[in-house]
Amino acid sequence: MKNVTVIGAGTMGNGIAHVFAQNNFEVNLIDISEKALENALHTIERNLDRLVSKDKISAEVKEGTLKRIKTFTSIEEGVQSADLVVEAATENVELKKKIFQQMDDLSPADAILATNTSSISITEIAAVTKRSDKIIGMHFMNPVPIMKLVEVIRGYSTSDQVTQVIMELSKKLNKVPVEVNDYPGFIANRILMPMINEAVYSLFEGVAGVSEIDTVMKLGMAHPMGPLQLADFIGLDVCLSILKVLHGGFGNPKYAPCPLLVNMVAAGKLGVKSGEGFYDYSESRKAEKISKQFS
Ligand code: NAD
Repeated sequence: MKNVTVIGAGTMGNGIAHVFAQNNFEVNLIDISEKALENALHTIERNLDRLVSKDKISAEVKEGTLKRIKTFTSIEEGVQSADLVVEAATENVELKKKIFQQMDDLSPADAILATNTSSISITEIAAVTKRSDKIIGMHFMNPVPIMKLVEVIRGYSTSDQVTQVIMELSKKLNKVPVEVNDYPGFIANRILMPMINEAVYSLFEGVAGVSEIDTVMKLGMAHPMGPLQLADFIGLDVCLSILKVLHGGFGNPKYAPCPLLVNMVAAGKLGVKSGEGFYDYSESRKAEKISKQFS
C-alpha cells in the first residue's frame, strides 16, 4: 500500500494526511474548498515545525512530508490511483453516502474505502457501494498527529482480510488500533458522549457552574480536560449530531441531547471553532488574557 487519498481537509483530514505523509505514504488530499486545502497545508507545516523545534523530527523529514502531499478539488483526479481512501468530510449521512458512491465509481476496484466518521453506521455507508467487504471505519482521534488510538470499525460485511490490513496499517503509523463492531457511537463516542451530555445537564439544572463541573472531573477523576471544555474542542454541533445518532440508533431516552446543548448549537455557539461555547475563545478574550499575563 503506497497511495492514500484523504477526502476532507478540515480538523481531522489535515491531521490524517500529515500522519500518512510523515510515514512515507504518497498522499492526495481532496476538499471542495480551496481555502480548506490552503489552511490544511499551513496547519500541517506549523505542526511539522513544532516537531522540528522539539527535535522529534529532522528538517529533511519535514520537507519530505510536505512534498508527499498533493491537493485536489476534484474527487475524480484525487482517487484514481488510490490503494486506500480515508473519507473525513463533514459528519452528515447523506453527504457521506454521496461521497462513497463517487469513491466506489472512481477509485481502483481493489482499493479499501475507509471513513473517519464519529458515529454514522459503516454498514449503511457500505450499502451504497458495490464493495461492502472493503468498507471500514478508521476512526482517528483529534489531534491526529498526537493521539495514539485508531478505533477500527468492522461493518456487517467488512472482510477479515480488510480488517487485518487496516489493523496492520494503523500500527505502521505508530498508532494503537482497537477493533470494534458497528453499533451506534462504536465504543469511543458511546461512552464519551453520554458523559458530556450529563455534564451539560448538570449545568442546565444548576447543580454547578462550568468551571466547577470541569474541575471535579479533572481533579477528581484525573481527566486531562473537563467534559465541557472537551465538548468545546470537539465542536458542540458534532456532539449534538453524535447524540442524535445514539438516541435514534438505540431508541433509549437516556441519550436524548440536553436542551441547553440544542439551544447553544442553534445560537451558533459551537465551541473553539466559533469562538465561544462553554468557554470564551474570542480574539478579544485572548488579548485580554495575554495583557493580564504581562500586567
Ligand atoms: P470539519 O468541518 O473540520 O472538516 C470537514 C471538511 O470536509 C471541510 O473542509 C469541508 O469543506 C469538507 N467537505 C465537505 N463536503 C465535501 C466533499 N463533498 N468533498 C470533499 N470535502 C468535503 O470536520 P472534522 O471535525 O474534520 O470532521 C470530519 C470527520 O471526522 C467527521 O465525520 C467527524 O465526525 C469525524 N471526527 C471528528 C473529530 C473531531 O474531534 N472533530 C474526531 C474524530 C472524528
